[in-house]
Amino acid sequence: MSNARVAIGEVSRTLGASGTRHSTRDILAARPPKNAVDPRRPYALFVEQERAATGAIEDVATIFLTNRECPYRCLMCDLWQNTTDETVPVGAIPEQIDFALSRIPPARHVKLYNSGNFFDAKAIPPTDHADIAARVRHFNTVIVENHPNLCDDACVRFRDLLGTRLEIALGLETVHPEVLPALNKQMTLADFERAARFLTWHDIAARAFILLKPPFLSEDDGVDWALRSVEFAFDVGVGCCSIIPARAGNGIMEHVQSRGEFNPPSLASMESVLAAGIALNRGRVFLDLWEIERFFVCPHCGPARSERLQRMNLEQIVLPMVSCGCRT
Ligand code: SF4
Ligand SMILES: [Zn+2]
Repeated sequence: MSNARVAIGEVSRTLGASGTRHSTRDILAARPPKNAVDPRRPYALFVEQERAATGAIEDVATIFLTNRECPYRCLMCDLWQNTTDETVPVGAIPEQIDFALSRIPPARHVKLYNSGNFFDAKAIPPTDHADIAARVRHFNTVIVENHPNLCDDACVRFRDLLGTRLEIALGLETVHPEVLPALNKQMTLADFERAARFLTWHDIAARAFILLKPPFLSEDDGVDWALRSVEFAFDVGVGCCSIIPARAGNGIMEHVQSRGEFNPPSLASMESVLAAGIALNRGRVFLDLWEIERFFVCPHCGPARSERLQRMNLEQIVLPMVSCGCRT
């Protein structure tokens, strides 16, 4: 507990003294231009392995749907880069799914990730829900992402349209009482808990996205609060936590970094949090390895450490550390 009190105090000073709360206007003003996207095409798709809730290691197709950007403007978010300004036409999302499914190998599960909230009616037209469900109900699990404050009966109706297992990924980000509001997520922990319990009550699985080392936290506190966040997520019914190393790249995060209030986590912190999360033995814990090479410092051990983390993701056991003299 003493650690927690010290950490909260440190962050109070950081946020309070420097006044570095960033408004939606600040965040928008710092943005570089968006990428050009086609509303009739997903902007990315791939198949990768993931450990399923059953314990099996199975193929999961991920389709990144192109759609209108999320109305929330979180400090650390870069997902808006591949979105449209306007709602896509009715029929465009089913067309994107057809395009993707005709090009990727078969998989057991599918993620329909839309860089925002599946149940935001301005992102995914609700009139498309039945056509979407018809295209993906042959998967064992359909995973979508959604803001906790947009979890309501629409999720239950989509579950019924699907007739297969629905899982909804919710951004918890951090349970830190001062950092969470500073992320401009416009969500409280009570909101998250309500959403997670609502989903599980309705037989919809909940997954949590948790940031490793968001702005304003030291390296050690970043690891500590990521683990606290994992524990909170499991406490409120989440079955799977995906830990995302925080990174710059959206404009405002570079600004925060230039003020000395953010630095990406080290590979060692990623190793610590994944090992400790798995050791909790309360549900699946994954570490997002996207562009993990960006975090390599030592040319000798980086690839081997990344390989170990990948195996830990799949096997959900803590493997022996890679030894190297660099101690990074
Ligand atoms: S709610 Fe999610 S998609 Fe929307 S801005 Fe925040 S992190 Fe990005
Ligand atoms: Zn090394």
